[in-house]
Amino acid sequence: MKPNDLPQFDTAALRAKDAAHHLHPFTDTKSLNAAGSRVIVRGEGVRIWDSEGNEIIDGMSGLWCVNLGYGRQDLVDAATHQMQTLPFYNAFFKTTTAPATELAALLPQVAPPGFNHVFFTNSGSEGNDTIIRLVRRYWDLMGQPQRKTIISRHNAYHGSTLGGASLGGMSGMHEQGDLPLPGITHIDQPYQLQHGKPGESAHDFGLRAASWLEAKILEVGADKVAAFIGEPVQGAGGVIIPPASYWPEIQRICDKYGLLLISDEVICGFGRLGHWFGCQHPHINSKPDLITFAKGVTSGYLPLGGVLVGDRVAKVLIEQGGDFNHGFTYSGHPTCCAVAIANVSALRNEGVVERVATDTAPYLKAQFATLADHPLVGDVDSLGMVAGLVLYKDNASRTLFDADLGVGYLCRDHCFKNGVVMRAVEERMIIAPPLVMTHAEIDEMIRRIRRSLDDTLAGLR
Ligand code: PLP
Repeated sequence: MKPNDLPQFDTAALRAKDAAHHLHPFTDTKSLNAAGSRVIVRGEGVRIWDSEGNEIIDGMSGLWCVNLGYGRQDLVDAATHQMQTLPFYNAFFKTTTAPATELAALLPQVAPPGFNHVFFTNSGSEGNDTIIRLVRRYWDLMGQPQRKTIISRHNAYHGSTLGGASLGGMSGMHEQGDLPLPGITHIDQPYQLQHGKPGESAHDFGLRAASWLEAKILEVGADKVAAFIGEPVQGAGGVIIPPASYWPEIQRICDKYGLLLISDEVICGFGRLGHWFGCQHPHINSKPDLITFAKGVTSGYLPLGGVLVGDRVAKVLIEQGGDFNHGFTYSGHPTCCAVAIANVSALRNEGVVERVATDTAPYLKAQFATLADHPLVGDVDSLGMVAGLVLYKDNASRTLFDADLGVGYLCRDHCFKNGVVMRAVEERMIIAPPLVMTHAEIDEMIRRIRRSLDDTLAGLR
């Protein structure tokens, strides 16, 4: 697309209004206002354009969500049709809408076996808040009300509501607002760079990292622990891919103590890892009782999230539970559900998830791995359509840059300048591109990333 085909915006005026009025999420407003926001005005396929006409490959799928890419007319049509027919009605008080019911029936067709019920929310954060309510309700109904503690991991991300931020293990979030809430506790993440021992194999590290769950269960008291929650691959924490030995051992420990296992699939769901849900990837291979989803369910075109409730919990909740006193005005919003149906149908009918597993993700892995020869780069890794690398000051001795330098943010800015969105998480640079990326687009993205690494290195000299 040529810049003059773009919608025209007055960038300076928008920046001024933004600085005057807009409090951005996870942003230092004062420093943002000094620089001015980048205004994104259009998207098509795997590319976005800013208001100054710059074309950028979106290596982060918006915010891990635009799985089908931008500009899908089928999703637009689904929303338009539903808005013209019935833009909104609720699912409280014994009513439903066709899209909410059809989506509730469609999701079990793509979910792992044993998931036949869904509770809709607007977001992943609300999904995880719903999980806390469901877990507590389940154990109350099971006659074990003392089972209230949920164990999560440091540096996990489970959302921004009080519950989501408490389940998450982000210290920067816990410091603001006296979190976590009582009844939520954390173990270390399976990140070998941070917690590995010299000479330890990835396999042994994975088993040792999982053993921290058992130690925590025994510390809290096995009869008091309700559940363990984890992302199959930690996304916002920096694409932390655990060793293959980790999740099976977590599963064994959950089974041994009867814990509910919760897979937060807000990022990993809907094909991101080349399977409908991340827990189905052979590298993960867990059997959760509850699954949180959001983002990729609509490819981000409209907000929708929810919880897939496995039979173990659903049976108790439905047969013994009576009213579940929980819900949002927009639980099962028909327009969002209509878009989700179109999105899931497209992922299915176009074979996107299978293509990720057999073609796109292996190609991304191979091309991303070529960055390993760059002097700044180490620990290149990917699983499905998420990938990450570490920026090292000295690769041979695995010496990291001084954190105050913010080398990741320098690199991220070079990426933007060179036309690719990459995210920085401390020493890690990560991507999660749209699932529909072609080989040629992957090649172009990798070239732009390499150029940005070169520019970062040149700037450090
Ligand atoms: N869980 C995970 C794993 C996430 O990555 C996110 C968001 O990035 C959330 C939950 C929260 O989702 P939302 O931002 O839709 O509330």
